[in-house]
Amino acid sequence: MEKTESKNFLEQIIENDIETNKHEGRIHTRFPPEPNGYLHIGHVKSICINFGMAQQYGGKTNLRFDDTNPVNEDVEYVESIKNDVKWLGFDWEDRLFFASDYFDQLYEFAEKLIQDGKAYVDDSAQEEISDMRGIPTKPGTESPFRNRSAEENLDLFRRMRAGEFEEGSRVLRAKIDMASPNMHMRDPIIYRILKAHHHRTGDKWCIYPMYDFAHGQSDAIEEITHSICTLEFENHKPLYNWFIENIGLFPSHQYEFARLNLSYTIMSKRRLKKLVEEGHVAGWDDPRMPTISGMRRRGYTPAALRNFIKKVGVAKRENVIDVSLLEFHVREDLNKMAMRVFGVLDPLKVVITNYPEGQTEDLPAINNPEDESMGSRTMPFSREIYIERSDFRIDAPRKFFRLGPGKTVRLKNAYIITCENHKTDENGEVTEVHCKYYPDSKSGSDTSGIKAKGTLHWVSIQHGIPAEIRLYDRLFNDEAPNGHKDRDYMEFLNPDSFEVIKNACLEPWLKNAKAGDRFQFMRLGYFCVDPDTTDGNLIFNRTVTLKDSWAKKGK
Ligand code: ATP
Ligand code: MG
Repeated sequence: MEKTESKNFLEQIIENDIETNKHEGRIHTRFPPEPNGYLHIGHVKSICINFGMAQQYGGKTNLRFDDTNPVNEDVEYVESIKNDVKWLGFDWEDRLFFASDYFDQLYEFAEKLIQDGKAYVDDSAQEEISDMRGIPTKPGTESPFRNRSAEENLDLFRRMRAGEFEEGSRVLRAKIDMASPNMHMRDPIIYRILKAHHHRTGDKWCIYPMYDFAHGQSDAIEEITHSICTLEFENHKPLYNWFIENIGLFPSHQYEFARLNLSYTIMSKRRLKKLVEEGHVAGWDDPRMPTISGMRRRGYTPAALRNFIKKVGVAKRENVIDVSLLEFHVREDLNKMAMRVFGVLDPLKVVITNYPEGQTEDLPAINNPEDESMGSRTMPFSREIYIERSDFRIDAPRKFFRLGPGKTVRLKNAYIITCENHKTDENGEVTEVHCKYYPDSKSGSDTSGIKAKGTLHWVSIQHGIPAEIRLYDRLFNDEAPNGHKDRDYMEFLNPDSFEVIKNACLEPWLKNAKAGDRFQFMRLGYFCVDPDTTDGNLIFNRTVTLKDSWAKKGK
Protein backbone atom coordinates (compact mmCIF):
# COMPACT_ATOMS: atom_id res chain seq x y z
CA MET A 1 0.00 0.00 0.00
CA GLU A 2 1.09 3.57 -0.71
CA LYS A 3 2.07 5.26 2.50
CA THR A 4 2.93 8.69 1.08
CA GLU A 5 0.78 10.56 3.64
CA SER A 6 2.88 9.39 6.53
CA LYS A 7 6.19 10.37 4.95
CA ASN A 8 7.87 13.33 6.56
CA PHE A 9 8.71 16.36 4.44
CA LEU A 10 12.34 15.34 4.00
CA GLU A 11 11.38 11.88 2.79
CA GLN A 12 9.00 13.49 0.32
CA ILE A 13 11.72 15.81 -0.99
CA ILE A 14 14.25 13.00 -1.28
CA GLU A 15 11.85 10.65 -3.00
CA ASN A 16 10.94 13.38 -5.43
CA ASP A 17 14.63 14.09 -6.10
CA ILE A 18 15.25 10.41 -6.74
CA GLU A 19 12.29 10.27 -9.09
CA THR A 20 13.48 13.28 -11.10
CA ASN A 21 17.02 11.92 -11.05
CA LYS A 22 18.42 15.04 -9.44
CA HIS A 23 22.17 14.53 -8.87
CA GLU A 24 21.79 11.22 -10.75
CA GLY A 25 19.60 9.99 -7.89
CA ARG A 26 22.48 10.32 -5.44
CA ILE A 27 21.70 11.01 -1.74
CA HIS A 28 24.57 12.37 0.27
CA THR A 29 24.14 13.98 3.69
CA ARG A 30 26.51 15.01 6.45
CA PHE A 31 26.47 15.56 10.19
CA PRO A 32 28.47 18.74 10.87
CA PRO A 33 29.20 19.29 14.57
CA GLU A 34 31.45 22.01 15.85
CA PRO A 35 33.94 20.36 18.23
CA ASN A 36 33.32 22.85 21.03
CA GLY A 37 31.62 20.50 23.48
CA TYR A 38 30.06 17.08 23.87
CA LEU A 39 27.05 16.06 21.83
CA HIS A 40 23.61 16.22 23.42
CA ILE A 41 20.19 14.74 22.81
CA GLY A 42 19.45 17.51 20.28
CA HIS A 43 22.36 16.31 18.18
CA VAL A 44 20.95 12.79 18.36
CA LYS A 45 18.02 14.06 16.32
CA SER A 46 20.33 15.58 13.73
CA ILE A 47 22.46 12.42 13.61
CA CYS A 48 19.46 10.12 13.24
CA ILE A 49 18.02 12.28 10.47
CA ASN A 50 21.25 12.70 8.51
CA PHE A 51 22.46 9.12 8.81
CA GLY A 52 18.95 7.68 8.86
CA MET A 53 17.79 9.36 5.63
CA ALA A 54 20.92 8.27 3.79
CA GLN A 55 20.54 4.72 5.08
CA GLN A 56 16.90 4.64 4.09
CA TYR A 57 17.63 5.72 0.51
CA GLY A 58 20.93 3.94 -0.10
CA GLY A 59 22.97 7.11 0.28
CA LYS A 60 26.04 8.18 2.20
CA THR A 61 26.70 10.38 5.21
CA ASN A 62 29.88 12.25 6.04
CA LEU A 63 30.98 13.16 9.52
CA ARG A 64 32.42 16.63 9.20
CA PHE A 65 33.79 18.74 11.98
CA ASP A 66 33.02 22.41 11.47
CA ASP A 67 36.20 23.51 13.15
CA THR A 68 36.56 27.12 12.09
CA ASN A 69 36.79 28.65 15.53
CA PRO A 70 40.10 27.55 17.09
CA VAL A 71 39.41 29.38 20.33
CA ASN A 72 36.63 27.08 21.59
CA GLU A 73 37.62 23.84 19.94
CA ASP A 74 39.54 20.88 21.18
CA VAL A 75 40.60 17.35 20.16
CA GLU A 76 38.93 16.01 23.31
CA TYR A 77 35.63 17.05 21.77
CA VAL A 78 36.51 15.55 18.38
CA GLU A 79 37.18 12.19 19.98
CA SER A 80 34.06 12.26 22.13
CA ILE A 81 31.89 13.12 19.13
CA LYS A 82 33.29 10.25 17.05
CA ASN A 83 32.74 7.90 19.93
CA ASP A 84 29.16 9.08 20.46
CA VAL A 85 28.13 8.79 16.81
CA LYS A 86 29.52 5.24 16.66
CA TRP A 87 27.82 4.28 19.89
CA LEU A 88 24.50 5.47 18.48
CA GLY A 89 25.01 2.89 15.75
CA PHE A 90 26.05 5.01 12.76
CA ASP A 91 29.04 4.69 10.48
CA TRP A 92 30.68 7.39 8.35
CA GLU A 93 33.03 4.73 6.92
CA ASP A 94 36.02 6.51 5.39
CA ARG A 95 34.27 9.85 5.18
CA LEU A 96 35.62 11.74 8.16
CA PHE A 97 36.26 15.37 7.24
CA PHE A 98 37.21 18.64 8.84
CA ALA A 99 36.34 22.10 7.59
CA SER A 100 39.94 22.95 8.47
CA ASP A 101 41.00 20.56 5.68
CA TYR A 102 39.47 23.12 3.35
CA PHE A 103 41.22 26.21 4.72
CA ASP A 104 43.40 26.46 1.59
CA GLN A 105 40.41 26.18 -0.72
CA LEU A 106 38.35 28.59 1.34
CA TYR A 107 41.21 31.05 1.16
CA GLU A 108 41.25 30.68 -2.63
CA PHE A 109 37.49 31.26 -2.74
CA ALA A 110 37.98 34.47 -0.77
CA GLU A 111 40.67 35.68 -3.17
CA LYS A 112 38.38 34.91 -6.10
CA LEU A 113 35.61 37.01 -4.57
CA ILE A 114 38.10 39.84 -4.04
CA GLN A 115 39.32 39.63 -7.62
CA ASP A 116 35.74 39.68 -8.86
CA GLY A 117 35.05 42.80 -6.81
CA LYS A 118 32.76 40.86 -4.47
CA ALA A 119 34.72 41.13 -1.24
CA TYR A 120 36.67 43.90 0.48
CA VAL A 121 38.91 44.46 3.44
CA ASP A 122 37.29 46.67 6.04
CA ASP A 123 39.44 48.56 8.54
CA SER A 124 36.48 49.70 10.61
CA ALA A 125 36.31 48.74 14.25
CA GLN A 126 34.02 45.87 15.29
CA GLU A 127 31.40 48.22 16.81
CA GLU A 128 31.44 50.47 13.76
CA ILE A 129 30.76 47.49 11.54
CA SER A 130 27.84 46.34 13.62
CA ASP A 131 26.46 49.91 13.82
CA MET A 132 26.68 50.23 10.05
CA ARG A 133 24.69 47.04 9.60
CA GLY A 134 21.72 48.85 11.13
CA ILE A 135 18.33 47.30 11.85
CA PRO A 136 16.25 45.01 9.60
CA THR A 137 13.58 47.62 8.84
CA LYS A 138 16.06 50.27 7.66
CA PRO A 139 18.94 49.98 5.22
CA GLY A 140 22.40 49.88 6.75
CA THR A 141 25.25 52.26 5.94
CA GLU A 142 28.03 51.44 3.52
CA SER A 143 31.52 51.23 4.93
CA PRO A 144 34.00 53.92 3.80
CA PHE A 145 36.27 51.00 2.76
CA ARG A 146 33.63 49.34 0.59
CA ASN A 147 34.91 50.65 -2.70
CA ARG A 148 38.57 49.80 -2.42
CA SER A 149 40.10 48.42 -5.61
CA ALA A 150 40.53 44.69 -6.09
CA GLU A 151 44.33 45.20 -6.08
CA GLU A 152 44.31 47.01 -2.77
CA ASN A 153 41.96 44.45 -1.22
CA LEU A 154 44.07 41.57 -2.45
CA ASP A 155 47.21 43.16 -1.07
CA LEU A 156 45.61 43.83 2.32
CA PHE A 157 44.08 40.37 2.52
CA ARG A 158 47.43 38.73 1.74
CA ARG A 159 49.05 40.83 4.41
CA MET A 160 46.31 39.83 6.85
CA ARG A 161 47.25 36.27 6.11
CA ALA A 162 50.92 37.03 6.54
CA GLY A 163 50.25 38.23 10.07
CA GLU A 164 51.07 41.90 9.50
CA PHE A 165 47.99 43.20 11.29
CA GLU A 166 46.64 43.00 14.81
CA GLU A 167 43.63 40.92 15.73
CA GLY A 168 40.46 42.94 15.28
CA SER A 169 42.12 45.60 13.13
CA ARG A 170 40.71 44.40 9.81
CA VAL A 171 38.23 41.90 8.43
CA LEU A 172 37.28 40.65 5.01
CA ARG A 173 33.64 41.24 4.09
CA ALA A 174 31.53 39.97 1.23
CA LYS A 175 30.17 42.83 -0.86
CA ILE A 176 26.51 42.02 -1.19
CA ASP A 177 23.76 44.42 -0.20
CA MET A 178 23.71 46.82 2.75
CA ALA A 179 19.99 47.43 2.19
CA SER A 180 18.92 43.80 2.22
CA PRO A 181 16.08 43.04 4.64
CA ASN A 182 18.07 39.89 5.47
CA MET A 183 20.77 41.06 7.86
CA HIS A 184 23.02 38.17 6.87
CA MET A 185 23.27 39.69 3.39
CA ARG A 186 24.53 43.06 4.62
CA ASP A 187 28.15 42.58 3.70
CA PRO A 188 28.82 39.79 6.20
CA ILE A 189 32.29 39.29 7.62
CA ILE A 190 33.86 36.24 5.98
CA TYR A 191 37.40 36.26 7.40
CA ARG A 192 38.82 37.59 10.65
CA ILE A 193 42.30 37.77 12.13
CA LEU A 194 42.75 35.34 15.01
CA LYS A 195 46.28 34.70 16.22
CA ALA A 196 45.22 31.41 17.69
CA HIS A 197 46.61 27.89 17.58
CA HIS A 198 44.29 25.49 15.78
CA HIS A 199 43.97 21.91 17.04
CA ARG A 200 44.64 20.60 13.52
CA THR A 201 46.34 23.28 11.45
CA GLY A 202 48.57 24.45 14.29
CA ASP A 203 49.99 27.91 13.67
CA LYS A 204 49.69 27.84 9.90
CA TRP A 205 46.87 30.38 9.89
CA CYS A 206 46.29 33.65 11.66
CA ILE A 207 43.14 34.40 9.71
CA TYR A 208 40.15 32.09 9.96
CA PRO A 209 36.96 31.88 7.88
CA MET A 210 33.69 32.66 9.62
CA TYR A 211 31.36 29.71 10.12
CA ASP A 212 29.03 31.09 7.45
CA PHE A 213 31.86 31.23 4.93
CA ALA A 214 32.97 27.68 5.70
CA HIS A 215 29.81 25.72 6.26
CA GLY A 216 28.03 25.97 2.94
CA GLN A 217 31.25 25.73 0.95
CA SER A 218 32.27 22.61 2.86
CA ASP A 219 28.96 21.05 1.86
CA ALA A 220 29.64 22.06 -1.73
CA ILE A 221 33.20 20.71 -1.71
CA GLU A 222 31.89 17.36 -0.43
CA GLU A 223 29.06 17.49 -2.99
CA ILE A 224 26.46 17.06 -0.30
CA THR A 225 23.09 16.76 -2.05
CA HIS A 226 20.85 17.34 0.96
CA SER A 227 22.28 19.71 3.49
CA ILE A 228 19.94 19.16 6.42
CA CYS A 229 20.03 21.52 9.37
CA THR A 230 17.89 23.21 12.00
CA LEU A 231 15.52 26.09 11.35
CA GLU A 232 17.70 28.83 12.78
CA PHE A 233 19.85 28.56 9.65
CA GLU A 234 16.93 29.25 7.31
CA ASN A 235 17.82 32.91 6.91
CA HIS A 236 21.47 32.05 6.32
CA LYS A 237 20.44 30.10 3.23
CA PRO A 238 20.39 33.09 0.82
CA LEU A 239 23.96 33.83 1.89
CA TYR A 240 25.08 30.21 1.37
CA ASN A 241 23.44 30.27 -2.04
CA TRP A 242 25.12 33.58 -2.87
CA PHE A 243 28.53 32.02 -2.13
CA ILE A 244 27.71 28.95 -4.20
CA GLU A 245 26.67 31.09 -7.17
CA ASN A 246 29.40 33.69 -6.94
CA ILE A 247 32.22 31.24 -6.38
CA GLY A 248 30.74 28.69 -8.75
CA LEU A 249 30.39 25.61 -6.57
CA PHE A 250 28.40 22.40 -6.42
CA PRO A 251 24.80 23.40 -5.64
CA SER A 252 24.17 21.73 -2.29
CA HIS A 253 20.65 22.51 -1.19
CA GLN A 254 19.81 23.27 2.41
CA TYR A 255 16.67 21.92 4.08
CA GLU A 256 15.65 22.97 7.57
CA PHE A 257 13.79 21.03 10.26
CA ALA A 258 12.65 22.01 13.74
CA ARG A 259 15.23 21.42 16.43
CA LEU A 260 14.49 19.12 19.33
CA ASN A 261 13.47 20.86 22.52
CA LEU A 262 12.93 18.80 25.67
CA SER A 263 11.16 19.82 28.86
CA TYR A 264 13.29 20.06 32.02
CA THR A 265 16.39 20.10 29.84
CA ILE A 266 18.84 22.64 28.52
CA MET A 267 20.50 21.86 25.24
CA SER A 268 23.24 24.23 24.38
CA LYS A 269 26.85 23.18 24.50
CA ARG A 270 27.76 26.58 25.85
CA ARG A 271 25.37 26.27 28.78
CA LEU A 272 26.22 22.63 29.40
CA LYS A 273 29.88 23.58 29.47
CA LYS A 274 29.12 26.11 32.18
CA LEU A 275 27.53 23.37 34.31
CA VAL A 276 30.72 21.34 33.94
CA GLU A 277 33.14 24.20 34.52
CA GLU A 278 31.33 25.49 37.58
CA GLY A 279 31.16 22.00 39.07
CA HIS A 280 27.37 21.66 39.19
CA VAL A 281 27.86 18.24 37.63
CA ALA A 282 30.78 15.82 37.77
CA GLY A 283 31.67 16.23 34.08
CA TRP A 284 30.26 16.11 30.56
CA ASP A 285 29.35 12.47 31.18
CA ASP A 286 27.63 13.03 34.48
CA PRO A 287 24.57 10.76 34.23
CA ARG A 288 22.27 13.74 34.79
CA MET A 289 23.57 15.52 31.70
CA PRO A 290 21.53 15.40 28.47
CA THR A 291 24.76 14.57 26.65
CA ILE A 292 25.12 11.30 24.78
CA SER A 293 28.02 10.38 27.06
CA GLY A 294 25.95 11.19 30.14
CA MET A 295 23.01 9.18 28.93
CA ARG A 296 25.29 6.27 28.02
CA ARG A 297 26.83 6.29 31.49
CA ARG A 298 23.38 6.42 33.01
CA GLY A 299 22.42 3.28 31.11
CA TYR A 300 20.28 4.61 28.26
CA THR A 301 20.55 2.41 25.19
CA PRO A 302 21.27 3.53 21.61
CA ALA A 303 18.03 1.86 20.49
CA ALA A 304 16.03 3.79 23.09
CA LEU A 305 17.45 7.08 21.80
CA ARG A 306 16.84 6.17 18.17
CA ASN A 307 13.28 5.02 18.90
CA PHE A 308 12.61 8.22 20.79
CA ILE A 309 13.78 10.34 17.86
CA LYS A 310 11.70 8.29 15.46
CA LYS A 311 8.65 8.89 17.62
CA VAL A 312 9.34 12.63 17.81
CA GLY A 313 9.42 12.77 14.01
CA VAL A 314 10.72 15.36 11.57
CA ALA A 315 8.76 18.55 11.12
CA LYS A 316 9.13 22.22 10.33
CA ARG A 317 7.43 23.58 13.42
CA GLU A 318 9.20 24.08 16.76
CA ASN A 319 7.68 22.42 19.83
CA VAL A 320 8.74 21.07 23.20
CA ILE A 321 8.80 17.33 23.76
CA ASP A 322 8.09 16.02 27.23
CA VAL A 323 11.22 14.42 28.67
CA SER A 324 9.02 11.60 30.01
CA LEU A 325 8.66 10.39 26.41
CA LEU A 326 12.41 9.83 26.33
CA GLU A 327 12.24 7.99 29.65
CA PHE A 328 9.37 5.90 28.31
CA HIS A 329 11.54 4.68 25.42
CA VAL A 330 14.41 3.94 27.79
CA ARG A 331 12.12 1.77 29.94
CA GLU A 332 10.64 0.08 26.93
CA ASP A 333 13.99 -0.99 25.53
CA LEU A 334 15.43 -1.99 28.90
CA ASN A 335 12.32 -4.00 29.69
CA LYS A 336 13.13 -6.20 26.71
CA MET A 337 16.83 -6.63 27.35
CA ALA A 338 17.61 -6.17 31.04
CA MET A 339 18.11 -9.13 33.34
CA ARG A 340 15.96 -9.06 36.49
CA VAL A 341 17.99 -9.18 39.68
CA PHE A 342 17.51 -8.52 43.38
CA GLY A 343 19.10 -5.68 45.24
CA VAL A 344 18.10 -4.09 48.54
CA LEU A 345 18.96 -0.41 48.71
CA ASP A 346 17.94 0.28 52.31
CA PRO A 347 18.39 -3.04 54.13
CA LEU A 348 16.27 -4.23 57.04
CA LYS A 349 17.21 -7.56 58.60
CA VAL A 350 14.64 -10.34 58.66
CA VAL A 351 15.27 -13.53 60.66
CA ILE A 352 13.24 -16.55 59.59
CA THR A 353 13.06 -18.16 62.97
CA ASN A 354 11.89 -21.62 61.90
CA TYR A 355 14.43 -21.94 59.06
CA PRO A 356 17.32 -24.20 60.08
CA GLU A 357 20.48 -22.36 61.06
CA GLY A 358 23.35 -22.94 58.66
CA GLN A 359 21.08 -24.17 55.87
CA THR A 360 21.28 -22.67 52.37
CA GLU A 361 19.12 -23.36 49.34
CA ASP A 362 19.74 -22.35 45.77
CA LEU A 363 16.41 -21.20 44.39
CA PRO A 364 15.83 -20.83 40.64
CA ALA A 365 15.13 -17.35 39.29
CA ILE A 366 14.06 -16.45 35.76
CA ASN A 367 16.37 -13.87 34.22
CA ASN A 368 13.82 -12.08 32.08
CA PRO A 369 10.17 -13.05 31.76
CA GLU A 370 10.07 -10.99 28.52
CA ASP A 371 12.77 -13.11 26.91
CA GLU A 372 12.98 -16.83 27.60
CA SER A 373 16.28 -17.10 25.77
CA MET A 374 17.92 -15.21 28.64
CA GLY A 375 17.52 -18.33 30.78
CA SER A 376 17.64 -18.56 34.54
CA ARG A 377 20.04 -18.60 37.49
CA THR A 378 19.85 -19.55 41.13
CA MET A 379 19.72 -17.33 44.20
CA PRO A 380 20.91 -18.48 47.62
CA PHE A 381 18.32 -18.38 50.38
CA SER A 382 19.11 -18.65 54.09
CA ARG A 383 17.77 -17.94 57.56
CA GLU A 384 18.72 -14.25 57.59
CA ILE A 385 17.77 -11.99 54.74
CA TYR A 386 17.48 -8.31 53.98
CA ILE A 387 14.32 -6.71 52.75
CA GLU A 388 13.72 -3.09 51.83
CA ARG A 389 13.12 -0.97 54.93
CA SER A 390 10.16 0.69 53.23
CA ASP A 391 8.56 -2.76 52.85
CA PHE A 392 7.97 -2.97 56.61
CA ARG A 393 5.68 -0.78 58.71
CA ILE A 394 4.83 -1.22 62.38
CA ASP A 395 1.56 0.62 61.90
CA ALA A 396 0.81 -0.96 58.55
CA PRO A 397 -2.67 -0.02 57.32
CA ARG A 398 -5.00 -2.71 55.99
CA LYS A 399 -4.16 -1.96 52.36
CA PHE A 400 -0.39 -2.11 52.91
CA PHE A 401 0.29 -5.40 51.15
CA ARG A 402 3.80 -5.67 52.42
CA LEU A 403 5.19 -6.63 55.81
CA GLY A 404 4.06 -5.54 59.28
CA PRO A 405 3.05 -7.21 62.55
CA GLY A 406 0.95 -10.27 61.68
CA LYS A 407 1.20 -9.67 57.94
CA THR A 408 1.96 -12.34 55.36
CA VAL A 409 3.91 -11.84 52.12
CA ARG A 410 5.65 -13.91 49.51
CA LEU A 411 9.39 -13.60 49.08
CA LYS A 412 9.83 -13.61 45.31
CA ASN A 413 11.21 -16.94 44.01
CA ALA A 414 11.19 -18.30 47.59
CA TYR A 415 8.67 -18.83 50.40
CA ILE A 416 5.70 -17.19 52.04
CA ILE A 417 6.49 -15.67 55.43
CA THR A 418 4.42 -14.18 58.27
CA CYS A 419 5.75 -11.51 60.60
CA GLU A 420 5.60 -12.55 64.24
CA ASN A 421 7.79 -10.04 65.97
CA HIS A 422 10.13 -7.10 65.53
CA LYS A 423 12.81 -5.25 67.50
CA THR A 424 13.34 -1.51 67.72
CA ASP A 425 16.19 0.66 68.95
CA GLU A 426 15.94 3.49 71.49
CA ASN A 427 14.54 5.81 68.79
CA GLY A 428 11.77 3.41 67.87
CA GLU A 429 13.51 2.54 64.61
CA VAL A 430 12.95 -1.06 63.54
CA THR A 431 16.20 -3.02 63.70
CA GLU A 432 15.11 -6.57 63.06
CA VAL A 433 11.99 -8.42 61.98
CA HIS A 434 11.19 -11.97 62.97
CA CYS A 435 9.11 -14.14 60.68
CA LYS A 436 8.11 -17.75 60.26
CA TYR A 437 8.10 -19.41 56.88
CA TYR A 438 5.94 -22.15 55.41
CA PRO A 439 8.20 -24.94 54.10
CA ASP A 440 5.55 -26.13 51.62
CA SER A 441 5.07 -22.65 50.07
CA LYS A 442 8.14 -22.71 47.86
CA SER A 443 7.67 -20.87 44.55
CA GLY A 444 6.95 -23.30 41.76
CA SER A 445 5.82 -26.08 44.12
CA ASP A 446 3.53 -24.28 46.54
CA THR A 447 1.07 -26.66 48.19
CA SER A 448 0.52 -24.55 51.32
CA GLY A 449 -2.77 -22.99 50.29
CA ILE A 450 -1.69 -19.82 52.09
CA LYS A 451 -2.59 -16.50 50.49
CA ALA A 452 -0.10 -13.65 50.28
CA LYS A 453 -1.15 -10.44 48.58
CA GLY A 454 2.24 -8.81 48.31
CA THR A 455 5.55 -10.06 46.93
CA LEU A 456 8.87 -8.68 48.15
CA HIS A 457 12.42 -8.81 46.86
CA TRP A 458 15.14 -9.88 49.27
CA VAL A 459 18.82 -10.81 49.53
CA SER A 460 20.42 -13.47 51.75
CA ILE A 461 22.61 -11.56 54.20
CA GLN A 462 25.32 -14.18 54.31
CA HIS A 463 25.60 -14.29 50.51
CA GLY A 464 24.82 -10.72 49.54
CA ILE A 465 27.47 -8.38 48.18
CA PRO A 466 27.80 -4.70 49.03
CA ALA A 467 27.41 -1.98 46.43
CA GLU A 468 27.24 1.75 46.04
CA ILE A 469 24.11 2.99 44.30
CA ARG A 470 23.89 6.40 42.69
CA LEU A 471 20.40 7.75 42.28
CA TYR A 472 19.71 10.50 39.79
CA ASP A 473 16.78 12.72 39.22
CA ARG A 474 16.16 15.53 36.76
CA LEU A 475 18.89 18.13 36.83
CA PHE A 476 16.39 20.99 36.64
CA ASN A 477 13.15 21.24 38.52
CA ASP A 478 11.55 23.62 36.07
CA GLU A 479 9.90 22.59 32.84
CA ALA A 480 11.64 25.32 30.87
CA PRO A 481 14.79 26.28 32.77
CA ASN A 482 15.81 28.43 29.86
CA GLY A 483 12.45 30.02 29.28
CA HIS A 484 12.45 32.73 31.96
CA LYS A 485 13.24 36.26 30.91
CA ASP A 486 14.30 37.49 34.33
CA ARG A 487 15.82 34.33 35.78
CA ASP A 488 18.89 32.34 34.90
CA TYR A 489 18.67 28.61 34.18
CA MET A 490 21.15 27.98 37.01
CA GLU A 491 18.47 29.07 39.48
CA PHE A 492 16.43 26.01 38.56
CA LEU A 493 19.04 23.36 39.35
CA ASN A 494 17.31 20.58 41.27
CA PRO A 495 19.13 20.31 44.63
CA ASP A 496 17.93 16.71 44.98
CA SER A 497 19.13 15.46 41.61
CA PHE A 498 21.86 13.25 43.09
CA GLU A 499 21.88 10.85 46.03
CA VAL A 500 24.41 8.18 46.98
CA ILE A 501 23.51 5.00 48.79
CA LYS A 502 26.54 3.33 50.29
CA ASN A 503 25.17 0.25 52.04
CA ALA A 504 23.06 -1.48 49.42
CA CYS A 505 23.15 -5.28 49.35
CA LEU A 506 22.85 -7.20 46.10
CA GLU A 507 22.37 -10.83 45.19
CA PRO A 508 25.75 -12.52 44.71
CA TRP A 509 25.30 -13.17 41.00
CA LEU A 510 26.03 -9.48 40.45
CA LYS A 511 29.66 -9.85 41.44
CA ASN A 512 30.23 -10.69 37.77
CA ALA A 513 28.68 -7.44 36.54
CA LYS A 514 30.86 -5.27 34.36
CA ALA A 515 30.87 -1.56 33.59
CA GLY A 516 28.03 -0.77 31.24
CA ASP A 517 25.93 -3.86 32.11
CA ARG A 518 22.27 -3.04 32.60
CA PHE A 519 19.81 -4.69 34.99
CA GLN A 520 16.35 -4.34 36.35
CA PHE A 521 16.49 -4.38 40.14
CA MET A 522 13.09 -5.87 40.75
CA ARG A 523 10.53 -3.38 42.02
CA LEU A 524 13.12 -0.58 42.05
CA GLY A 525 14.07 0.40 38.53
CA TYR A 526 16.77 -0.07 35.93
CA PHE A 527 20.40 0.22 36.92
CA CYS A 528 23.68 0.25 35.04
CA VAL A 529 27.18 -0.53 36.27
CA ASP A 530 29.23 2.66 36.42
CA PRO A 531 32.72 2.76 34.84
CA ASP A 532 34.11 3.91 38.20
CA THR A 533 33.50 0.37 39.43
CA THR A 534 36.59 -1.45 40.69
CA ASP A 535 37.05 -4.99 41.96
CA GLY A 536 36.29 -4.14 45.54
CA ASN A 537 33.76 -1.43 44.88
CA LEU A 538 30.73 -2.13 42.75
CA ILE A 539 28.90 1.04 41.68
CA PHE A 540 25.52 1.21 40.00
CA ASN A 541 23.74 4.17 38.45
CA ARG A 542 20.00 4.20 38.49
CA THR A 543 19.04 4.62 34.85
CA VAL A 544 15.34 5.18 35.36
CA THR A 545 12.63 4.22 37.80
CA LEU A 546 10.07 1.59 36.79
CA LYS A 547 7.31 4.18 36.56
CA ASP A 548 7.23 7.86 35.74
CA SER A 549 7.62 9.28 39.23
CA TRP A 550 7.19 12.88 38.01
CA ALA A 551 3.75 12.24 36.56
CA LYS A 552 2.44 11.98 40.15
CA LYS A 553 4.24 15.10 41.31
CA GLY A 554 2.32 17.21 38.80
CA LYS A 555 -1.19 18.24 39.55
P1 ATP B 1 24.62 24.03 20.49
O1 ATP B 1 23.78 25.27 20.47
O2 ATP B 1 24.21 23.03 21.48
O3 ATP B 1 26.09 24.32 20.53
P2 ATP B 1 24.91 23.77 17.72
O4 ATP B 1 23.80 23.77 16.73
O5 ATP B 1 25.74 24.99 17.82
O6 ATP B 1 24.32 23.34 19.09
P3 ATP B 1 26.63 22.11 16.22
O7 ATP B 1 27.79 21.34 16.67
O8 ATP B 1 26.87 23.27 15.34
O9 ATP B 1 25.86 22.56 17.52
O10 ATP B 1 25.51 21.17 15.62
C1 ATP B 1 25.70 20.14 14.72
C2 ATP B 1 24.37 19.83 14.12
O11 ATP B 1 23.44 19.46 15.12
C3 ATP B 1 23.80 21.05 13.42
O12 ATP B 1 23.38 20.67 12.13
C4 ATP B 1 22.65 21.46 14.28
O13 ATP B 1 21.62 22.01 13.51
C5 ATP B 1 22.24 20.17 14.95
N1 ATP B 1 21.58 20.41 16.23
C6 ATP B 1 22.06 21.11 17.29
N2 ATP B 1 21.15 21.17 18.27
C7 ATP B 1 20.05 20.51 17.83
C8 ATP B 1 18.76 20.23 18.37
N3 ATP B 1 18.41 20.65 19.58
N4 ATP B 1 17.89 19.51 17.62
C9 ATP B 1 18.25 19.07 16.42
N5 ATP B 1 19.43 19.29 15.84
C10 ATP B 1 20.33 20.01 16.53
MG1 MG C 1 27.25 26.11 17.69
